Amino acid sequence: MTPSTASLIEIEHRLGAHNYKPLDVVLSRGEGVYVWDVDGNRYLDCLSAYSAVNQGHCHPKILAAMVEQAQKLTLTSRAFRNDQLAHFYEEIAALTGSHKVLPMNSGAEAVETAVKAVRKWGYEVKGVPEGQAEIIVCANNFHGRTMGIVGFSTDPDARIGFGPFAPGFRHVPFGDIDAFRTAINENTVAFLIEPIQGEAGVLIPPAGYFTAVRELCTQHGITLILDEIQTGLGRTGKLLAEEHEGIEADVTLVGKALSGGFYPVSAVLSNSEVLGVLKPGQHGSTFGGNPLACAIARAALKVLVEEDMIGNSERMGERFGAGLKGIRSNIIKEVRGRGLMLAVELDPAAGGARKYCEALKERGILAKDTHGDTIRIAPPLVITGDQVDWALEQFEAVLRT
Ligand SMILES: *Cc1c(COP(=O)(O)O)cnc(C)c1O
Repeated sequence: MTPSTASLIEIEHRLGAHNYKPLDVVLSRGEGVYVWDVDGNRYLDCLSAYSAVNQGHCHPKILAAMVEQAQKLTLTSRAFRNDQLAHFYEEIAALTGSHKVLPMNSGAEAVETAVKAVRKWGYEVKGVPEGQAEIIVCANNFHGRTMGIVGFSTDPDARIGFGPFAPGFRHVPFGDIDAFRTAINENTVAFLIEPIQGEAGVLIPPAGYFTAVRELCTQHGITLILDEIQTGLGRTGKLLAEEHEGIEADVTLVGKALSGGFYPVSAVLSNSEVLGVLKPGQHGSTFGGNPLACAIARAALKVLVEEDMIGNSERMGERFGAGLKGIRSNIIKEVRGRGLMLAVELDPAAGGARKYCEALKERGILAKDTHGDTIRIAPPLVITGDQVDWALEQFEAVLRT
């Protein structure tokens, strides 16, 4: 470690709140699938900022759109209109088949917005008695870090010490259709769920689960809210992960890669009924829907489609997944994933994933451990076959036994 790396880490440690425990690599540049540290070492990014840089680091077309818009107009607030918002609405609605769009900034804000809107929908449209609305959520969910959201987390780290929390949430195990059916009552307004639980370790529900969820939601007048903030925008080899299940959500949440990593941009996408209940003054955000964010998001969506990143995610995901499954190792418990949202779960006897992530770092791969024993692998969707093969050699060197 050079003096500058060590001193930057020391300053972070001294002045920053310790709410993260990053790998000790200090990055200063990125391009495509690669990032470089302050010493000039190159790494293949296998996290993509938790899938926020699906389009690759510093994508030149998104950069150009950002610079161009930043020189013209960046922020008006929604007190006035701007000339980018309508185009953003049109393009994202057409791409995702949505009727209404509400732009926010972070993913957590999109989740909060959906919770607010669907409760109001419950009272005004479904006829739930005031104050009684219930939202069903899953055990081991990850939807963000606001007070509202951590209140319905089941992760002790996320919630212990932060209460009191808002009521109105009911938990069911992820992937358990009978538990969901049993949890429904006349006050249930929504089911909020991730198509694949990312932070919980890339957990994929049993085949047919979402078809049954969709049917129950329709039957009981429950709004199905899919949090596609991590799974969306090409990550799983489809534009939205719901396509793997052959279903359509009533409300879809996107964020992260909606800006290709340049800027926080999120959105709630819905049918007209749910977002239709919000009237002027009932919800908002100073930065939400600003022209800079809209211009960036438009470019981020455009390159995703034009450069066939979604198809590439499917093809490279298959190649990467097959390669990982081929590693002969008695510490690998399971390899799973969809598209380029992959995970290697290690045997608990291996002593945790963190040390393998450290070893991968030494070989030029940045990956993140999650939930102790799982290495999550999610490179930018622009990765090539040769780059996948090179990455596999590094994984094999570290995991082979
Ligand atoms: C990252 C994430 C969020 C929260 O997004 P932020 O931009 O960090 O607030 C919500 N849901 C899922 C599934 C996520 O992966």
